[in-house]
Amino acid sequence: MKIPFLSFKAMNADVRPALTASFEKFIDSNWYILGEQVKAFEAEYARFSNTRYCIGVGNGLDAIIIALKALDIGHGDEVIVPSNTYIATWLAVSQVGATPVPVEPRKDTCNIDPDLIETAITPKTKAILPVHLYGQCCEMEAIRDIATKHGLAIVEDNAQAQGATCNGQVTGSFGTINATSFYPGKNLGAYGDAGAITTDNEALASRAAQVRNYGSMVKYYNEEKGMNSRLDEMQAGFLSVKLQYLPSWNQDRNRIAATYHEQLKDCNGITLPVVAKGCTSVYHLYTIRTAKRDQLQKYLHEQGIGTMIHYPVPPHLQKAYVELGYKKGAFPIAEEIAATSLSLPIFPGLAQEEIVYITKAIQTYFKTH
Ligand SMILES: *Cc1c(COP(=O)(O)O)cnc(C)c1O
Repeated sequence: MKIPFLSFKAMNADVRPALTASFEKFIDSNWYILGEQVKAFEAEYARFSNTRYCIGVGNGLDAIIIALKALDIGHGDEVIVPSNTYIATWLAVSQVGATPVPVEPRKDTCNIDPDLIETAITPKTKAILPVHLYGQCCEMEAIRDIATKHGLAIVEDNAQAQGATCNGQVTGSFGTINATSFYPGKNLGAYGDAGAITTDNEALASRAAQVRNYGSMVKYYNEEKGMNSRLDEMQAGFLSVKLQYLPSWNQDRNRIAATYHEQLKDCNGITLPVVAKGCTSVYHLYTIRTAKRDQLQKYLHEQGIGTMIHYPVPPHLQKAYVELGYKKGAFPIAEEIAATSLSLPIFPGLAQEEIVYITKAIQTYFKTH
């Protein structure tokens, strides 16, 4: 059996006729940037996120950058970020001229540990930037309490967890202003780069809309030095189609995760994903941990099973961040996660017999090695 790490086949089959119709409409619309499709998708995604406003932008990294700019965060400011995340979270902070201040994750959930955030707060801290990693919502109530106590903004990096919840509240609705990504592989993926910002705050929404479009609200009148980072009409039309399927696709990811859990819970040698009390995950990734990670990955590859490592090098040890001067050992939990994590195939349409094939292969590996 050959099982890729990620396949769009089943998702594409669900949406193909509607996508084709949307594309035809797009060509004939005679309007290709910031038109009716973007407006419609923004309204739909705001409804999905239970926020008053959504601003479509070019990609997830820009979404975080624009959210930080809307908050006037820049040179001399500090932003608290997880030590364990995709580097985009940190890069956004650096791009606005602020400094990312890492906080370790909980060992079990791999999400930022609310108990460690306060020790990282200084007079320069302006915001907390939690990441709902692998699709699991962070412990947002604890994070919100800390932010309120210290007068800090929250910017959610919701690139991986569209539709996940904490005590019934959906991601993208907790923070002051929040960012998400529609990179093709994300739970809600475009057919190219795309992203969005969600917020309840009217002033921040309008500032973000201005920043994404050259700092201009009225054509050729520029209030500030903005960016060009607009969600385009074609992707917005596609995303409107796919958004209707997102709840059922997220459910299917939960079916797969439950099957993995059932099949692997007694397997010695691996640690399974843990979801915090009151939180849910939309399983963007199903990431297990094992000391024999590299050998297991090689074995599964030989059995025809695609896997990935999220992520092999934590941001503080990347060459891109030598200037911060962190040495190996500075953030041991993030480093341990980077050394032991292995993401198994998870995507809507992955069949039960395929999951069983994968879990059997993992069990066989640990019995024989
Ligand atoms: C994908 C991702 C981003 C960036 O999104 P792009 O659309 O690729 O720019 C940011 N943060 C996290 C956690 C991500 O997974």
